[in-house]
Amino acid sequence: MATELKDVKYEVAVANRVLAELGLASGVLAALGHASMRVPSQPDTFVVKGRGYEMDALARMRPEDMVICDLEGYKVGGPPHATQCFEVKMHSCIYKTHPEVQSIVHVHPRYTVLMSVLQKRLLPMCNEGLYLVRDPLPVYDNPMVILTEEQGMETASLLGDSKAILFKGHGAATVGKSLQESVIFMLQLEEQAKMNWYAYCAAGPDHQGIPFDQADEVIEWLAKMPINELPHFTQEVRAAGVQTGGVWAYYADLVSKDLRRPWWRKMLG
Ligand SMILES: [Zn+2]
Repeated sequence: MATELKDVKYEVAVANRVLAELGLASGVLAALGHASMRVPSQPDTFVVKGRGYEMDALARMRPEDMVICDLEGYKVGGPPHATQCFEVKMHSCIYKTHPEVQSIVHVHPRYTVLMSVLQKRLLPMCNEGLYLVRDPLPVYDNPMVILTEEQGMETASLLGDSKAILFKGHGAATVGKSLQESVIFMLQLEEQAKMNWYAYCAAGPDHQGIPFDQADEVIEWLAKMPINELPHFTQEVRAAGVQTGGVWAYYADLVSKDLRRPWWRKMLG
């Protein structure tokens, strides 16, 4: 358990740093947002970025800064000087009502916020995150931050089976089976929102998106990824497997260099 919690704190700290590195929590947004993960052996608790640090920025989070909370949003562990994140009810209520969700990300990404204020439905504009915007996303129709149990439960109820929910004029939340999944969903959501904004500027509010029948074909194909059925790939895939997940691996490596114990310190014990 102690080792597991240590690992979860490390992964959550890295995920918060990745959000900053991706530009999803930068500039005026540098301290805003939080990634969390359910503790696998204690699913009624989760680890999340808190508040009250000397340097309160997602880009600077360390494993020892992480806060542990229960499903009512109470802090049950973590550094004494830190509190839960203010919007902890967003996390606790989703975990409470969605046992399949293992990780949640909430940030205030600029293009996603912009499109939510314009009240323009996000259309599929590129392959990255196509499945996220195939159907209209649920919207919390109020820019108020999520502080109370009622607001948290409304968020969880609106989310339903979706992988993402928009908070009008405020931000978005994404959920996943892992930190990697919820972070990448958020990155893809913001990419679709950005492409929608570009199209809106270039061609007006009635711009085209990828036709839904073609989007469905791509979604189906990507879900199967039948590379190994292609004759020119069969042998190679058998040997090397199908490689995915490069974006997460690259950014997780990039942001975690100072968290790794230097070899010389290890030698000194
Ligand atoms: Zn927020």
